[in-house]
Amino acid sequence: MRGARTLPQRPLAPTAPSRRQLQRPGGAGGSGSRPHRAHPLTDQRENALLIDYEERIKGCFDRIVPLLQQLASLQREPDFSARAQELARAQLGFSLPQFVLDQTWVEGLDMKRLYAWCVFRAYEAMSRDFFGHDPLRGARSHERTAAMGNTLLEQGFHLLDISPCADGRLAHTVSSVLRLPYGLVRRRSHAGAMFDVSRSVKRWVGTEHRRFRESVPNAATEPTSYLKVVVYHFSSRDPSHQGCAAHGSDDAAAAAAGLQRLQDFRQAIENGFCCGASVDLLLIGMDTDTDAIRVHVPAADHVIDLLHWVDGLALYEDSSSLSPQQGRELIAQRVAEACPGQCDEGMQRFIALLLEHNISQIDLVRSHFGGAYSDAGHAERFIGVGIGFKEVHLRNLTYFAHLETVEEAASDLDVGIKIFRGLNVSRGLPIPVVIRFDYSGSIPGARERAIADCERVREAMHVRYGDLCDRGLLHTLLSIRDRDRGEPAETIAMSIPLAPEAAH
Ligand SMILES: [Zn+2]
Repeated sequence: MRGARTLPQRPLAPTAPSRRQLQRPGGAGGSGSRPHRAHPLTDQRENALLIDYEERIKGCFDRIVPLLQQLASLQREPDFSARAQELARAQLGFSLPQFVLDQTWVEGLDMKRLYAWCVFRAYEAMSRDFFGHDPLRGARSHERTAAMGNTLLEQGFHLLDISPCADGRLAHTVSSVLRLPYGLVRRRSHAGAMFDVSRSVKRWVGTEHRRFRESVPNAATEPTSYLKVVVYHFSSRDPSHQGCAAHGSDDAAAAAAGLQRLQDFRQAIENGFCCGASVDLLLIGMDTDTDAIRVHVPAADHVIDLLHWVDGLALYEDSSSLSPQQGRELIAQRVAEACPGQCDEGMQRFIALLLEHNISQIDLVRSHFGGAYSDAGHAERFIGVGIGFKEVHLRNLTYFAHLETVEEAASDLDVGIKIFRGLNVSRGLPIPVVIRFDYSGSIPGARERAIADCERVREAMHVRYGDLCDRGLLHTLLSIRDRDRGEPAETIAMSIPLAPEAAH
């Protein structure tokens, strides 16, 4: 049985408030809250689009438990199966596995299986929606992306390569916090933002080779740079507990480690290639409570000061009563003041643009989440393992464990499983794990290798977390995607059988 092709455009009256609604302390419409006055530099249209997208996608995940609770009370009714399907289609946008419903009269509803099934169907629907409709207007084909690409070239950058921490609270860094079209950005998330220098050098070589051979995005003779950005994070509300786990919630250590990794990358390029080859570097910190950024403005000679930055939140406050033009002038002034030497003009303009974009995001968090998210810690909906997940751009939706083999990222995975023991297993719900490998369809045999990678990781997870699998508390979906085509992810297998005869 296949689910519906798309998510419902609007949530249909859920029977219980969603997890996010429950967690929202001072959100819009909260009783007694003062009406929010938008900042003059806020892009209100973009904010409305982002909020609508978040509510639509996360809403689907968050309506699963209330729906299952509703089914639990209906399961003895004579027309249960038909009513259950009707409710699932109306509230989630897809059907439930019929044979699980048909077996209800024997053993009662298998809620663990149904829960995992629904999470996987919601993930598939999100992927179809993202690649089918470009809801964030960030695809390469979108005119907004092309315009921003030209702006970047004018500022002196032909490629943006951003490494945020893999923490689910940074999954929206590109599209929301920095407001950059995702199609322009090479995003590689790693625990603690500790990206792999050797793999980054390979990607740099590919980029420069393409400029040389095809003049894409511009000719190699043009004096533009490859810009590598690290985004570390911290928590303003609970700095010693809700910061970056990979750096012991020590934001100074997270920033220092990010800077060291950036410098190693530039050193690798300069040592390995001739003719003055180099890259530009940028270090950004992000407050996971307010989404405000702080930018360590680099000098033209690459000096980056760990102790000084432009504070996005202070800029928001200080420019809130200025005209848009005065606000932009203040941003430019702060960027120039924070530079520890002579500043590159293009870099200065790029940072000013990021800070202006970030004001919209700070405003969004203020208007819809009371200024700071109430889910300060982990509240992810599923674990994503492997390579890919280009469509995940929502905060706290996915805990990422980027890996090619379970062994290489066993500790990342163990952390994810521990988080979900608290989030799900403690409530009797299974841990949904999406194993995903993207591949290049133009490379012979790549699809088969991606499937084999999925299967290998699944087997390794079964060995490592056998107790959870045996108790039905860990379910897996195997998923691949051809990154050369704009197609959604394709499901290869699921630990929940599609029919009773397929059960094993
Ligand atoms: Zn982190």
